Amino acid sequence: MEHKEKDEILLRLENLKTVISSKDGKLVPVDGVDIEIPKGKTVGVVGESGCGKSMTAMSIMGLLPSNTRVEEGKILLGETDLTKLSPKELRKITGDKISIIFQEPMTSLNPVIQVGKQVREAILLHEKISKEEAKQRVIEIFKQVGIPEPERRYRAYPHQLSGGLRQRVMIGMAMVCNPDLLIADEPTTALDVTIEAQILHLMRQLQKQKGTSIMMITHNLGVVAELCDKVYVMYAGKVVETADVYELFKNPQHPYTIGLLGALPKMDSNQRLDSIEGMVPTLKDMPAGCRFAPRCPHATEQCSKQQPPLVSVGAEHQVRCFLAGAKEEN
Ligand code: SF4
Repeated sequence: MEHKEKDEILLRLENLKTVISSKDGKLVPVDGVDIEIPKGKTVGVVGESGCGKSMTAMSIMGLLPSNTRVEEGKILLGETDLTKLSPKELRKITGDKISIIFQEPMTSLNPVIQVGKQVREAILLHEKISKEEAKQRVIEIFKQVGIPEPERRYRAYPHQLSGGLRQRVMIGMAMVCNPDLLIADEPTTALDVTIEAQILHLMRQLQKQKGTSIMMITHNLGVVAELCDKVYVMYAGKVVETADVYELFKNPQHPYTIGLLGALPKMDSNQRLDSIEGMVPTLKDMPAGCRFAPRCPHATEQCSKQQPPLVSVGAEHQVRCFLAGAKEEN
């Protein structure tokens, strides 16, 4: 029998639990999450707003608000557990090996400094080269990320660029240090579909050239289909399904994943899109049993009382649902 070669894992989250201390007590936005990011691959983390995706990314980067901390679990980058590092050590590692881009580049760019200079400073932080050499490098990077007239755009301020160009600047900034991992948190959500397609194409190209791993955080399964090798579906702080991207689209098992896929437009259909009834529960009101039970069309009494475990339903395909377990046994 032919065996698929095991991917080398760059980043591994093991039972990650992130908690917020609030006046309502302890809230748990990330509750025992296991995620593996293989070297050179793109992993999608997908779910609606409030599912814990961004908080997972912030936990990796050590960018949590002051009332929030990683309480349990490991964040292993190779052999190094990032949860054990001091803030200074973590900044050094994330600065060298992990970059992040956000949905709205305006929040990450300084509005009163020319964009070229901002990218140049990022280079000078990591490399001992002259300012002129760094400037030439920026212009080269601007060309690589498809910014037209890069010499002129070097001197532009963020507000003088379109949303798409600003996101290209951010991708350029994220790539200057050749990170091992690029975390992209909804990088195309604020852009129109044509620009979105260009940015996704650019990320794919850069990944091919540089072998960077990408963690793509998105609520959009279309983006996942376009870019990802493997997918983790998150719901209310937990991974509810994970599989290879083809397997997930061909054979989704969790009612939440099926709901998300039902909300995806199809080229060959005029049918109305299904949407998932109800809302993601708030952190204060987490259901005691399966967190999806209040919205699930298949919920039983057991579902409202017990939390389902993550069970294997195929090679590298796992689902957190009592129904999937039942299917497995039949
Ligand atoms: S465990 Fe029950 S409520 Fe949860 S997704 Fe499965 S069937 Fe629905």
